[in-house]
Amino acid sequence: MKSRKKKIRKGRIFLVVFLFVMIIILFIIMFSNKDKDLYMLNLVNKNISDVDEMLKEYGLDITVTYKYDDLIGKDNVISQSIKDGVIVNDGDKLDLVVSLGKIDKEKMKKDGINELGKVPIMMYHGIKNMKDSETSHTGGNVDKDGYTRTVESFRKDLEFYYENGYRMIKLSDYIKGIIDVPYGYSPIILTFDDGNDNNIKVKGLDSNGNIIIDENSAVGVLESFKKKYPDFNVTAIFFVNNGLFNQPEYNEKILHWLVNNGYEVGNHTKNHDNLSKTTTSSTQESIGYMYDKLDKILGNKYSKIVALPFGSPYVKTHENYKYVLSGEYNGNQYETVAALRVGWEPEVSPFNKNFDKTFLKRCRAYDNNGVDFDIEIVFRMLNKSRYISDGNVNTITTDIKNKELIGSFSELEVILYE
Ligand SMILES: [Zn+2]
Repeated sequence: MKSRKKKIRKGRIFLVVFLFVMIIILFIIMFSNKDKDLYMLNLVNKNISDVDEMLKEYGLDITVTYKYDDLIGKDNVISQSIKDGVIVNDGDKLDLVVSLGKIDKEKMKKDGINELGKVPIMMYHGIKNMKDSETSHTGGNVDKDGYTRTVESFRKDLEFYYENGYRMIKLSDYIKGIIDVPYGYSPIILTFDDGNDNNIKVKGLDSNGNIIIDENSAVGVLESFKKKYPDFNVTAIFFVNNGLFNQPEYNEKILHWLVNNGYEVGNHTKNHDNLSKTTTSSTQESIGYMYDKLDKILGNKYSKIVALPFGSPYVKTHENYKYVLSGEYNGNQYETVAALRVGWEPEVSPFNKNFDKTFLKRCRAYDNNGVDFDIEIVFRMLNKSRYISDGNVNTITTDIKNKELIGSFSELEVILYE
């Protein structure tokens, strides 16, 4: 009996000590947490380059947008989404609006800033490892029509675009109205049709199982320009058929490599079908089959954009056109975001009210001695009409005389100079 009582008492003492210790620990936790509370600082008028340092221990998810402002100096914060003095937690979202300084409309006018200008969407097919002098056709054309071009001419094209102030953008950004090129520069888009193996020729795999790309295939050349001119923003979209890149042992690795390295992949129909000659159901198979195929390999990492083989149908009123844009195949619904024709001249700005992303024109990238809309003539035309960026993706800047051409983009600020 005695020893049992002792045991119970010992147990009670232990319980009391245990609870006491727990309470102390709880207090310490509460107290230290209290001590750790972070209060939002007042960032207004602070330089954005100092803000990161000021908020270093906050762990915030910061988004910055830029706006012109007459009162707040350039690069200083205009406003913050979390008021100063508010307690913030790790991972909270903070939106900052930062000043671009006063709008200098005189300078914009002098520099010819025009975001209602035209954008070239260049159409390539094949790139062959030859010199221009080795072909029996004009300039860098390997075949009569210049669908396949020499690697020498492709390199020259890229140098020409770069030197003339063009910077590449993704086709899917253009159709969303996101033209992210620096002030004074112009956007250009590169497209490749047909999945020719010379678009991205794989020579083998390295010891890690990664593809080794032939430096004289289109992507090999593009990658060399990526290193040479980091500000060129090298990218391109590749439109493929059922055969993908016609390298069965590497096709899937190629697709993954492209989307993981800043390129895009789109739909060029199942069998390079002429969609003005297909039936309603075979049109849907032609488009839907390729979406299914890309979906299985890439999930949602490809672009829902169709390049029409032969540029057909030529008119949107064709009965098959609506099945280019949406339909059903094999029980799966598909929606196409944009469609490309073959073409001859640069497209309008995405901010132009006549912009139609489901019927876009392309420029043939070929040589023809400066006639019939070859590269030379297209870029000569562009010198008078090209899109020239104000360097800010949130504004549309143009001459006041283009005012009537501007479509409605509620989230973008319009800046007009006279
Ligand atoms: Zn084609």
